[in-house]
Amino acid sequence: MYPNTQFLIANEWVPSASGRTLDVLNPATGDKIGTVAHADRKDLDRALEAAQAGFLAWKKLSPYDRYKILRKAADNMRARVDDIAKIMTAEQGKPFVEAKGETALAGDLIDWFAEEGRRTYGWIVPPRMDGVQQLVFKEPVGPVAAFSPWNFPINQAVRKIACALSAGCSIIVKGPEETPASCAELIRAFVDAGVPAGTVGLVYGVPAEISEYLIPHPIIRKVTFTGSTAVGKQLAALAGQHMKRVTMELGGHAPAIVFDDADIDVAVKVLAANKYRNAGQVCVAPTRFLVQEKVYDQFVEKFTGAAKAIKVGDGMEKETRMGPLAHARRVDAIEGFVNDAVEHGAKVTTGGKRIGNKGYFFEPTVLTDVPTTARIMNEEPFGPLAAMRPFSNFDEVVQEANRLPYGLAAYAYTRSSKTIAAIGAAVESGMVSINHHGLALPEVPFGGVKDSGYGSEGGSNALEAYLNFKFVTQVGA
Ligand code: NAD
Repeated sequence: MYPNTQFLIANEWVPSASGRTLDVLNPATGDKIGTVAHADRKDLDRALEAAQAGFLAWKKLSPYDRYKILRKAADNMRARVDDIAKIMTAEQGKPFVEAKGETALAGDLIDWFAEEGRRTYGWIVPPRMDGVQQLVFKEPVGPVAAFSPWNFPINQAVRKIACALSAGCSIIVKGPEETPASCAELIRAFVDAGVPAGTVGLVYGVPAEISEYLIPHPIIRKVTFTGSTAVGKQLAALAGQHMKRVTMELGGHAPAIVFDDADIDVAVKVLAANKYRNAGQVCVAPTRFLVQEKVYDQFVEKFTGAAKAIKVGDGMEKETRMGPLAHARRVDAIEGFVNDAVEHGAKVTTGGKRIGNKGYFFEPTVLTDVPTTARIMNEEPFGPLAAMRPFSNFDEVVQEANRLPYGLAAYAYTRSSKTIAAIGAAVESGMVSINHHGLALPEVPFGGVKDSGYGSEGGSNALEAYLNFKFVTQVGA
């Protein structure tokens, strides 16, 4: 049974004060499967008040006590993987096995941040004068407003929650309205683990109304957002006006560079798997396939074969390797990208069309010889489209890789150790993965440069975005 989703305020699951709800659809059928509560100011004021109280209670606990509660939340996620993954597939569409992986990874992420929270050590600076003690403390910044999207309803939210809580902050999550219930199950794992009331809050509604109210609010001290670059720029500007700390994990347009000395079979296998995972609705998905001339035809043929072999269907069916897109507006957007590329002279070697007239299915698609003037070579497609073009030499491909304002992820395949070192250094990107796909583990940095945002949602430095460094200098009485 798919649950209706309510807000979490002060550890109570509550409907909106107005009683308003939004419908939740199953993207595999387009049918309504439930509802999610819809916030207005009254609800947000209650959530803010609770977050302030929750912050005072949570920061009072020692890092060790916080760690013990967070480890329980991680265990809760692991124990509930199957039930939560069913909910996620019903509302988001991804194959059940991907939903299970995402839910289980949440446990890993919480564990890792819980451990890091125990290591928020300060330090002592040697004084210039006898008798002076100079101390640096790390303190939580305060209540956090987090805006989390629908493509990874748990993974995007858990990075924010685990990081904020391990630093001693409280957090209000504006969850994804299209995929609310799996995100709510994540929040439930923290409540059931024993976080004090108000430490974690959850609301839904009209995203712009919520961000415009929460970000300037004096209770909120830090903002974290995952979503499109256009929205991220608006929210960062608003946060700037109100002097709020910000982490922005925004869009990407990852180049996947295949040199002519690469292991083509490995490149095809790994890149195709990552292109069509979650129907391409992944910020680090490989998007611009730049393939050196000598191996271009071979790569196109093999990659097209891999795309054709992907079984598309309802995520709950065992054989399904790619589910539907998450909502109707993505199907229109993806169709628009394909039509525009073809008008610009690209060829479609497989796919290119919607599937059926029920649900939001689209074929795994390969576009070749795509000119750089086509929209797909410039805007993030966020769907199951691989756009390919040949290149002749290293300098040319680096220029193309760095041409766009995005800089989130990049991939390269080559057998030359010289090229491995050179391409890793030359690409302007927050993350570069060479000859394998190795991104997004809890212990490694996760974030972009340029228009892809700033700050990291992984690795030990992720915590610093949620901490103030306080300097105290003292002389004994
Ligand atoms: P969208 O720009 O309307 O929304 C993207 C996300 O931002 C959603 O979760 C939405 O709820 C939120 N959002 C939108 N306006 C907001 C506001 N004013 N305040 C707070 N939150 C706001 O687009 P969409 O159709 O939902 O998704 C398509 C685009 O979004 C994609 O092309 C992709 O670039 C981007 N996106 C990126 C990620 C990511 O992981 N970086 C995730 C989801 C969507």
